[in-house]
Amino acid sequence: MAVNVEIGSHVWVEDPELAWIDGIVLNIKPDEVDVQTSDGKIVAVSLSRIYPNDVEAPSGGVDDMARLQYLHEAAVLHNLATRYEINEIYTYSGDILVAVNPFQGLSHLYDVNMMERYKGTSIGELSPHVFEIADAAYREMINEGRSNSILVSGESGAGKTETTKMLMRYLAYLGGHSGAEGRTVEQQVLESNPVLEAFGNAKTVKNNNSSRFGKFVEIQFDKHGRISGAAIRTYLLERSRVCQVSDPERNYHCFYLLCAAPQEEIEKYKLGNPKSFHYLNQSNCYELVGVGDAQEYIATRRAMDVVGINEREQDAIFRVVAAILHLGNINFTKDEDIDSAVVKDEQSLFHIQMTAELLMCDLHSLEDALCKRVMITPEEIIKKSLDPLAAAVSRDGLAKTIYSRLFDWYEGTYWIIVSGLVYVPLRMHLYLFCQHVFKMEQEEYAKEEIDWSYVEFVDNQDVLDLIEKKPGGIIALLDEACMFPKSTHETFAQKLYQTFKDHKRFLKPKLTRSDFTIVHYAGEVQYQSDQFLDKNKDYVVPEHQDLLSASKCSFIAGLFPPFSEESAKSSKFSSIGSRFKIQLQQLMDILNSTEPHYIRCVKPNNLLQPATFDNIHVIQQLRSGGVLEVIRIKCAGYPAHRTFSEFLIRFGILAPEILKGNYEEKVACKWILEKMEMKGYLMGKTKLFLKAEQMAELDAKKARL
Ligand code: ATP
Ligand code: MG
Repeated sequence: MAVNVEIGSHVWVEDPELAWIDGIVLNIKPDEVDVQTSDGKIVAVSLSRIYPNDVEAPSGGVDDMARLQYLHEAAVLHNLATRYEINEIYTYSGDILVAVNPFQGLSHLYDVNMMERYKGTSIGELSPHVFEIADAAYREMINEGRSNSILVSGESGAGKTETTKMLMRYLAYLGGHSGAEGRTVEQQVLESNPVLEAFGNAKTVKNNNSSRFGKFVEIQFDKHGRISGAAIRTYLLERSRVCQVSDPERNYHCFYLLCAAPQEEIEKYKLGNPKSFHYLNQSNCYELVGVGDAQEYIATRRAMDVVGINEREQDAIFRVVAAILHLGNINFTKDEDIDSAVVKDEQSLFHIQMTAELLMCDLHSLEDALCKRVMITPEEIIKKSLDPLAAAVSRDGLAKTIYSRLFDWYEGTYWIIVSGLVYVPLRMHLYLFCQHVFKMEQEEYAKEEIDWSYVEFVDNQDVLDLIEKKPGGIIALLDEACMFPKSTHETFAQKLYQTFKDHKRFLKPKLTRSDFTIVHYAGEVQYQSDQFLDKNKDYVVPEHQDLLSASKCSFIAGLFPPFSEESAKSSKFSSIGSRFKIQLQQLMDILNSTEPHYIRCVKPNNLLQPATFDNIHVIQQLRSGGVLEVIRIKCAGYPAHRTFSEFLIRFGILAPEILKGNYEEKVACKWILEKMEMKGYLMGKTKLFLKAEQMAELDAKKARL
């Protein structure tokens, strides 16, 4: 930005450690300035890379970025940091709520008094808050009779799940059946969270309680605004975690909870120390700081009661969880006589017996399903033996299959799909996000009766093509890769690198053999190809299907309904990639037909610590999450939107004569602008639209008075 600088001007300059640092201009050269930064250094900076620093800004920051005098990255970052320091974690950026994770309990922020305070308020009346967004969505739904949606986004550990829970609590509070006895829908909705977290969350390096699935919650309200139904949809559980965990992460919480269950259950399921199970002991992390697995087990059981999972089903669910632990402890060796994998030793024999017992299936069939594959040739059907390595892969495949079916069962059984207030904590809405921003910006101009056609419309069709094009897009290549049994995430990645090496939206990051980066419209996002491949290979081996559909436990058999030859063929290759795309499309349709609200969660540091604001880390999230994109769009046009009276308060002093007269505000503003020889600003019905440099020039003139 070309800034109107003078010696002594306060500016922001880029800094390798702090992202942006404030300083004072010491010296001005033709296209460079010397700046004395607040850490005592003197740096020479190109004129185009310095930004004005508003020293008149309130010391506690502003609760809406739109109120910043200068709207640019440095000011936004500084404002968030300033507020974070005084525990103001919420800030609006236009109509997006930015939430910076406090990493400490700020319980007063979410108690009943707080909920009561936000009830019926309008945006901007109180401090920014998730309740305010939920309240606005609720009122809009009731008053306009339209479905609303709230999109929560952010990187792992940024606070999406916690934010979701606050939103759900607030909506349950507004739409609850006061005084109702027993299990109400809102109680079921709220208690679905601990159940889903027990089975779908795990400790990762990024988050001690990381959701390893996408979630989509719908809550339906009746015409009186009371909750009448709910639906939860989950997407793409990370399957590989069931049998593969690396230090210092953990497997899904439920495994550890069950190992900490009351003694009689431990005996029933023949469990013990988590360290004795292969699926858990690949990592040295067993405990979570501040979490007692034993209490969590009881709490999960109670939550299951509330959501309506009966005793018999709960028993079956935990039997399956225990069976998976035993399954992982079955090892194989080669029987040279029959040239085949066989169960290795006494220990493994015990575990395979336990697995069969818990899954209520035939021991011999289980062994066959693990160690053999049926081959159908034109001439005959033969049973081919696997080698020990392949048998172990088959075992892990079975574990993943059972677990993911178990996870999916919950949503399939306990929720009715309804339409209504939609809440969506998913990560892939960048496209919609920007579309919405454009819409809002344009609406603002339209309201002010200004022709906004100069706002350049940016389309991201090329990104969509890169992902979805048939044939040749990433998803198509993924489907292809999954049809070749030999493909690995590395061969898949190589294929991508080759195919898209000249695509301007595709990058191969340095120092990786399998990751790739997509340059989304609002920023770069790095993806892991191994996750893609694993998630995509979701078909069930027929041998496993047959084994489990024959289980004497009706719950387990129910997880594996028999299917016809036809559907088997087609479903085998209807990969998750394609299904995901359909789901994404459905999601977009829903969002397009609702009134969206946005919450952008920000993770202030990678140490998961309170009171630590890492500028570089935050700026990256703002860049990729579209928050700065909104700002970029605004900067490209007229970033400063000021009502006439706001303008007069700040700049009236430039024309004191006008303040004395009794002029209409609009006329007074125009007078000042003409006196200052400003050109090219826009004047609406109630607001002025100024370019950033015009604002800076006015400030400079004011400073010179
Ligand atoms: P993932 O994508 O890995 O699931 P996430 O965005 O859902 O991550 P959360 O699990 O919601 O992240 O948050 C991570 C942790 O941060 C929480 O376990 C909690 O300790 C803390 N946290 C998040 N939001 C808040 C909040 N509003 N108040 C207090 N602590 C919070
Ligand atoms: Mg989460």
